[in-house]
Amino acid sequence: MLTKTELQAIWGRYGFRPEKRLGQNFLIDKNIKKKIVANLDIHPKDIIIEIGPGFGELTSELAGRSSMVYAIEIDKRICEILRAEPNLPQNLTIVRGDFLNLNIKEIAKGKKTVVYGNLPYYITSPIIEKIISEREHIKCAYLVTQAEVAERIVAQPNSKRIGRLSLFVQQFTDPRILFKIKKGSFYPTPQVDSAFIRLEVLEKSRARVQNEEALSRVIKIAYGKRRKTIFNALKATGIGNNELLEILKQAGVEPRARAENLSLEDFRRISDLIGS
Ligand code: SAM
Repeated sequence: MLTKTELQAIWGRYGFRPEKRLGQNFLIDKNIKKKIVANLDIHPKDIIIEIGPGFGELTSELAGRSSMVYAIEIDKRICEILRAEPNLPQNLTIVRGDFLNLNIKEIAKGKKTVVYGNLPYYITSPIIEKIISEREHIKCAYLVTQAEVAERIVAQPNSKRIGRLSLFVQQFTDPRILFKIKKGSFYPTPQVDSAFIRLEVLEKSRARVQNEEALSRVIKIAYGKRRKTIFNALKATGIGNNELLEILKQAGVEPRARAENLSLEDFRRISDLIGS
């Protein structure tokens, strides 16, 4: 892995300057790299998709442990620098492009891939949404995110951090914070600390709801007015007061509770009672 001085030397040679708008904060801490590698459960037959390899801080390591790595990098300059590297692993394909437009199904070829990415923070949520919506082709994702986002992802009911992101991610994956990373481990130094997380895709959704879209709609409405009671917030569904009170009663949800007090299972019961 490259130290800050080595990174700066490469940048000097190629006239490269990191772009803030592309979330370019590169890992420069050897101990964190070791810790990341030690936490990866990768098998020799796995296909890995790396989001934003940068200067290959982890890429060779990933290639050495898997059958194939597709490294998706949006920055043309970085792709050129990476491709000029004389000892690129044979099983590495550098793809210049936006991860958000990647055809994961095509890469997976009927198998389940492992996704790795020290994420460009400006698109953390869209990346997580893409991973989840294409989870059929993914078994697990290892991601470096802002520490605050990681905490929101694993948040449980009755905590201030729980929200739509927590429920969405927890409905389809088993999310874990593996460890926190101080902002000084990256260069240029970002504003906030990070966390290394794992999202293990569940075979079946956590809450066995009749209609996933209806569940997501109810959660959206409830969190659209998270300061209101769940009874008042769900009036926006158009359901009359008496019927709504009956639904909440049957779902075992206190009408004066707020969205943040409800579990996925509470939302599932409400959603199934409301219907699609
Ligand atoms: N993997 C390197 C590391 O750990 O040091 C770089 C991580 S840096 C936080 C994010 C990387 O993602 C940058 O190389 C950036 O150019 C790239 N990137 C930004 N937006 C992207 C996108 N939409 N698709 C693919 N790569 C992107």
